[in-house]
Amino acid sequence: MEQRVVEELRQIVGIENLWRGEPMSRHTTWKVGGAADVYITPREEHLTAVVQLCRKREIPFYMIGNGSNLLVGDKGIRGVVIDMSKHVDHLTVSGHRVVAGAGALLSRVANLAADNRLTGLEFASGIPGTVGGAVVMNAGAYGGEMKDIVRSVKVLDREGNELTVEADDLQLGYRTSCIPEKGYLIREVILDMRFGNSEAIRERMNELRRQRAEKQPVEFPSAGSTFKRPEGEYAGKLIMEAGLAGHLIGGAQVSEKHCGFIVNRGAATAADIRALIEYVQAEVERQFSVTLEPEVRFLGEF
Ligand SMILES: Cc1cc2nc3c(=O)[nH]c(=O)nc-3n(C[C@H](O)[C@H](O)[C@H](O)COP(=O)(O)OP(=O)(O)OC[C@H]3O[C@@H](n4cnc5c(N)ncnc54)[C@H](O)[C@@H]3O)c2cc1C
Repeated sequence: MEQRVVEELRQIVGIENLWRGEPMSRHTTWKVGGAADVYITPREEHLTAVVQLCRKREIPFYMIGNGSNLLVGDKGIRGVVIDMSKHVDHLTVSGHRVVAGAGALLSRVANLAADNRLTGLEFASGIPGTVGGAVVMNAGAYGGEMKDIVRSVKVLDREGNELTVEADDLQLGYRTSCIPEKGYLIREVILDMRFGNSEAIRERMNELRRQRAEKQPVEFPSAGSTFKRPEGEYAGKLIMEAGLAGHLIGGAQVSEKHCGFIVNRGAATAADIRALIEYVQAEVERQFSVTLEPEVRFLGEF
């Protein structure tokens, strides 16, 4: 990227919020991924100017949250990565409404909701993503999903215009929304929750965390469930029945504790993980004629 453009970006976000050649392995929970040409951690008031500059200079740009559902290629990302998780994380509660900067971590939002006797986000307290990333993915677990509580989102479109989009217009479905397709960049999420019993809310959160620790390979870097649940089946069960528990490619392994997870055993590359994803898909297809669709998002060059 031209030095002139980097300087212009630096003037917008400040010298302390821009890095060149930043390894994305530092910003993904799989701990893999090559360098982004430019990686920025803007404040909310700088987002519009960043988007408008990237448009004007024809530089590709990508918004990320906590990188907990992302496989970034080993050759990195050409363009600008906008990390929302560092500074766009304001959080307020008013009555039964929670307003959160897109980069606020779900665990923090769930805790604040619980402090205010608000129920509806217990399912998400152990999901290691941001609230913005959770809306994009319509994250869900244990019978709950973001769709149940999102009222609206404030977004920038690809030209940098500010819009408010109601939940009904986000096409929130099983681990999907129309946000990537529309090119929306979420700045803020508005949740409508219900009043409940503080103790019951805390108890449920603790119980779900216990279940995660017991059933999921939380001791290794991962991106959670690698695949979506195929209709009428469980991806992890099919992978186990295909005899793939513990299968290794390079440093990537099908978790023995939960076959739905691919974990980084220490020195995995994105290429290892991608090769293992493709191998698992091919084996499950061959043995059971079931197509596994990745839940994780691929970003950058492989
Ligand atoms: C141990 C573990 C357990 C998990 N358990 C669950 C679970 O139970 N249920 C579940 O649904 N998921 C789970 N996940 C996956 C993941 O945490 C969720 O999908 C989460 O919502 C992703 O949020 P994120 O902020 O990390 O998004 P990222 O991974 O950073 O991004 C995901 C996608 O959203 C886009 N995006 C992110 N923020 C924005 C924004 N502000 N505006 C526009 N686009 C944006 C990115 O470009 C990317 O396409 C788990 C992951 C791990 C590592």
